[in-house]
Amino acid sequence: MKLRITIVAILVAIAAVGIIGQTAMNSSATGNASSRLRSSDDVFDGKKIVKSEAEWQKLLTPTEFIVLRKKGTERPYTGALTDNKKAGVYVCAACGLHLFSSKHKFDSGTGWPSFYQVINKKNVDEEVDRSIPDETRTEVNCARCGGHLGHVFDDGPQPTGLRYCINSVSLKFLPAK
Ligand code: FE
Repeated sequence: MKLRITIVAILVAIAAVGIIGQTAMNSSATGNASSRLRSSDDVFDGKKIVKSEAEWQKLLTPTEFIVLRKKGTERPYTGALTDNKKAGVYVCAACGLHLFSSKHKFDSGTGWPSFYQVINKKNVDEEVDRSIPDETRTEVNCARCGGHLGHVFDDGPQPTGLRYCINSVSLKFLPAK
């Protein structure tokens, strides 16, 4: 009899942990940017995401909004992913499109995450940026949602010679499985 009660108690405990775990997963999935990440995001399929400023403001954190939608720049050495050396994929923080691979990340010493190539040229758009007088830069945006990522310069390492200087806050990191 005692044994039967113990077994029932264990089964109830296992079920309870399962429910709590599920609830925790659901609440975290609705509460942060990772909920907007989709799995089939390798190559941009040409379907742009267009949202109003008010909609983006609701979806993004204040810092994400300033950088991604207002073309702001995070302070150097403050980004969570600048020194990240783990293997994985860096995706757009706003829409989840795959942008950079850890394979192409390098330490530029600038204080921002730096890559010498994008995962796929289709996944980013480039634009001439003349916001700083006397310096014409090439701005890099997410091809799908138009979110501002950073700039690309031609003083990077081989094999491309490019340096994609990207705001950490514009990226989310998906660790390799
Ligand atoms: Fe995006």
